[in-house]
Amino acid sequence: MGSHEMRAGEELVRITVLGKSPSWQDAGGACSGYLLSDGETTVLIDCGNGVFSKLRLFCDYVDVDAVAISHLHADHFLDLVPYSYALTYAPRQQPVPVDRWPGTENPARPRLIAPRGSTETFRQVVGAWGNDDLIENAFALEEYEPNAVVEVGDIRLRFHEVPHFTETFAIDMSSRRGDGRITYGADSRPGDELVEIARDTDLLIVEATLPRPERTGVRGHLTPTEAGEHARLAGAKRVVLTHISDELDADRARERATEAFGGPVEVAAEGAVYEV
Ligand SMILES: [Zn+2]
Ligand SMILES: [Zn+2]
Repeated sequence: MGSHEMRAGEELVRITVLGKSPSWQDAGGACSGYLLSDGETTVLIDCGNGVFSKLRLFCDYVDVDAVAISHLHADHFLDLVPYSYALTYAPRQQPVPVDRWPGTENPARPRLIAPRGSTETFRQVVGAWGNDDLIENAFALEEYEPNAVVEVGDIRLRFHEVPHFTETFAIDMSSRRGDGRITYGADSRPGDELVEIARDTDLLIVEATLPRPERTGVRGHLTPTEAGEHARLAGAKRVVLTHISDELDADRARERATEAFGGPVEVAAEGAVYEV
């Protein structure tokens, strides 16, 4: 729990790992997705392949206040497609006489907080089969700019650009009611940007995609050792590795990151819950 102790009656910020796979799913797993809750507020951070199914194990999808997307790679947003179909076609979301389907007078339309350019990208994806406006109709879509600070109920989200193959934002999540803070590094190659946004965070969720640095071309991801180094430079209090395939040795990744961080590091598992 870091330096602050829980006071009587104080609720913690809680994050549940829905998916921790890289760009292809673990056996039975899902790509990036994290369910954040603070008091009455629920935010889904990223919605990669397989995440919608996992989300349904933990909460009712109509109760999610907002979905925040770190970047427009498939493994971070593709399950917005089934999520949009649910919000559009689930019986309780249909505009039918309220006396027959109580609750349908107000179909859910969660906020969708996504990087600039998302509207066009989403149109292209679902437009491939003629459903251009599926996602923007299902959600209340808002695009954010670099360094944006967005409030959703009790949660404040700060978007900070990190270097990756496409425009990508780490997301710093803090409670507006207390001092709990979680930083999600999204996908990133090594760089100061990740250290900056994660400075003194209570919990850093950091990718450790690679068993070794990319052999050729532009770098886009981190090794466990690099993830641990960035966490140490940031002074993170607690570290969880994620975006790591079940085809890699989790124990070895943990050992390398722990050595570089100089303290215990965990490897994300689906269903794991962290509180700060
Ligand atoms: Zn990516
Ligand atoms: Zn990814």
